[in-house]
Amino acid sequence: MTEPIFTPADEHAMRLALDQAHNAWLVGEVPVGAVITRGGQVIATGYNRPITTHDPTAHAEIVALRHAATLLENYRLPECEIFITLEPCAMCAMALMHARFKRVVFAATDPKTGVAGSVTDLFALPQLNHHTRIERGLMADASAKLLREFFAERREAARARRAERQGLIPTGEATHLDDTP
Ligand SMILES: [Zn+2]
Repeated sequence: MTEPIFTPADEHAMRLALDQAHNAWLVGEVPVGAVITRGGQVIATGYNRPITTHDPTAHAEIVALRHAATLLENYRLPECEIFITLEPCAMCAMALMHARFKRVVFAATDPKTGVAGSVTDLFALPQLNHHTRIERGLMADASAKLLREFFAERREAARARRAERQGLIPTGEATHLDDTP
């Protein structure tokens, strides 16, 4: 496979997707973001929020894709390109193919659930994918770093909670109450 050549416009779109990933972190979700462009113009954004919305399908790209399809009043988006900070999972990959995206660009790879080359490559199956060009690696380091920092912080918080439960860290709870006058 030839290495994709990314333009400054691609980088700009991916930077916006990384901002969206930060938004996910701010609400306690795994930081993944997505941006959809059409003719070089940003038309929709989304960030990962399955926990906050009680919706297992609320991955960043699905959230953005729903906004874009609603905006364009079309279930197919053949003129659209999507920039995602993480390799899509099988659900999102199929949604992007159903929508007939012109181009899918993602940053970091996901060895656990990515299906654009990691676990498998659904986009390479000609029976499934006739329309969507996929490109990987744009700002991959920035996205991977964000994910690493998020999981490190979450592990640290879990450790602190465990230590607190075991009484290793004083919690500041009163052991007796003074008599009120
Ligand atoms: Zn997904």
